[in-house]
Amino acid sequence: MEELVALCKRRGFIFQSNEIYGGMQGLYDYGPLGVELKNNLKHSWWTSMVYDRDDVEGLDASILTAPNVLKHSGHEDTFTDPMVDCKSCQSRWRADQLKEATCPSCKSNDLTEPRPFNLMFKTSVGPIDDGKSFAYLRPETAQNIFTNFKNVVDSTSRRLPFGIAQIGKAFRNEITPRNFIFRVREFEQMELEFFCAAGTDEEWHKLWIESRLKWWEDQGVSKDVLELYHVPADELAHYSKATVDIMYKFPHGLEELEGIANRTDFDLGSHSKNQSELGINATVKENNASNAKLAIQDIETNEWSVPYVIEPSAGVDRGVLAVLNEAYRVETLDGGKERTVLSLKPHLSPIKAAVIPLKRNHEGLVDMASKIKSELQNLRLGRILIENSGNIGKSYRRHDEVGTPLCITVDFESLEDGTVTVRDRDTMEQKRVSVDEIKTQLHEMLLNGTNV
Ligand code: ATP
Repeated sequence: MEELVALCKRRGFIFQSNEIYGGMQGLYDYGPLGVELKNNLKHSWWTSMVYDRDDVEGLDASILTAPNVLKHSGHEDTFTDPMVDCKSCQSRWRADQLKEATCPSCKSNDLTEPRPFNLMFKTSVGPIDDGKSFAYLRPETAQNIFTNFKNVVDSTSRRLPFGIAQIGKAFRNEITPRNFIFRVREFEQMELEFFCAAGTDEEWHKLWIESRLKWWEDQGVSKDVLELYHVPADELAHYSKATVDIMYKFPHGLEELEGIANRTDFDLGSHSKNQSELGINATVKENNASNAKLAIQDIETNEWSVPYVIEPSAGVDRGVLAVLNEAYRVETLDGGKERTVLSLKPHLSPIKAAVIPLKRNHEGLVDMASKIKSELQNLRLGRILIENSGNIGKSYRRHDEVGTPLCITVDFESLEDGTVTVRDRDTMEQKRVSVDEIKTQLHEMLLNGTNV
């Protein structure tokens, strides 16, 4: 973990937030390369969830959430972790994460009884802070997918089964944020709420688990390093009938990367008007929360029903940590030298290719390198960078370390015949090729997920 954290800071992937003022626990900022990696991971998720399928729509809803939403979803009452105080040093801990009933900081056994601590952040809304007008910062992106259910159905004429996908920030006042970007207080989620008919939910649950494992594999996190954890009944969240967590061996241990829950008709039912008044069946019946009818009509039978929901919910930040950890390796080369490589899947690489003029500031070389950069950039395949450092060895090392799949060197021969040298990050092989060949290579590499 320390090596990864150091690399992330040194190369501009991830910084501690508010660092110049001493930092703030549980908050991180993504630097120039981190933002590219994160965007690429999110784009890959969106492509596979929304574009590659014909049964999913997207959404981008607000973060500030009306208290009523999180009251009726059950979060006000149950979105808690058990907290204990150390009476000796006054530190606070999550009771279920303590190995023994001992304070990890001062080793005292004098701890309070665990009590529930609500993880939601509140903020006041409007110019008068009277404690009454407040909103929550959403603790999951899911809830405003449910509250927008009718808007999406009405505007798209969707019928079951179909899903709504959203990527966005979520906030949890974690008692003990830790392990770099694994457990933070502000993070991003990629969530799909997949609505299906009651009775088909268990089958869909299985299909989504398979589909999500395949997606992680495509991001470079293979099935061999993932495990499925069937959450036991007494650990299930209040809305869940069954949850399967995808567990990954993070540098600090085996922990949840993504959760796939069968949320039944709990949420849509909870946000709907009194169910008996509406004449529809749902598990959650007693409610007068809103006037909404979050149900769907079968066009053949004309019957209304509240759909069941399967929710694959993945953390972007935990995803970034997993793909970085899988890609990171230190190799010993012939001659004993070491090199650090990030073998990221090319579609995730922050920089797709670096164009390096052999001699720094040489007019002809830099000119040609700039032209090649523009030509490749115009393919719209991601960031192409000019590396005008004049030190080829150093440039290769830097780009190995940040996961750039191709380095393109422009030398004096290039000025004569238009060919350049392409070096592959993983094999370190170098080939003399034309710029057109690089274009094909870039296209193929990004489509196939391999370095060609
Ligand atoms: P954990 O048990 O690790 O606290 P959780 O079960 O509370 O996680 P979910 O509510 O299922 O998490 O949230 C879905 C996903 O959101 C998680 O799989 C994880 O990837 C991500 N996530 C949740 N909490 C955090 C956090 N504090 N920091 C970073 N990512 C998080």
